[in-house]
Amino acid sequence: MENCLFCKIIKGEIPCTKMYEDKNMIVIKDIDPKAKNHFLAIPKSHFKLLADMTEEQSEMLRQCFLTIPKLQKELQLENGYRLVINQGDDAGQTVFHLHIHILSGQKMGWTPA
Ligand code: 5GP
Ligand code: ZN
Repeated sequence: MENCLFCKIIKGEIPCTKMYEDKNMIVIKDIDPKAKNHFLAIPKSHFKLLADMTEEQSEMLRQCFLTIPKLQKELQLENGYRLVINQGDDAGQTVFHLHIHILSGQKMGWTPA
C-alpha cells in the first residue's frame, strides 16, 4: 500500500529498530514509547481494521499471536505484558495499518481515557 508508514517500514524504506521478523510480521520498537518497553507487532499484509480482514489476513494475524509469546526473552515478557490493538477514531488509531502494541517491563495501571 502506497503512503503507508508501516508498509514502508516493512519494505525497509524507513528505518526502525527491528526486534524480530518472519514471513508473517515484523516486531519493532515504538518510536514514542508509552511504557518501559513498547513494541509494535505489524502483520506484513496491509489492512486497517479487524472488520476489513480477509481469511488470509486472519491466518497471518493468528500466526502473529502464536509467535508473540515465544519472544519472551527478546521482548522482556517474562513478568507479563499487555497487548493493545487500536481500532478507529475513538481508540486513537493514528497509523492505518493494523498493528499490535506490546507493552512490557513494568507494572501497568488501567486508564482508558
Ligand atoms: P496507533 O495510534 O495507530 O495505535 O499506533 C501507532 C504507533 O506508531 C504509535 O504508538 C506511534 O508512536 C508509532 N509510530 C508512529 N510513527 C512511527 C515511526 O516512524 N516509527 C516507529 N517505530 N513507530 C512509529
Ligand atoms: Zn500498510
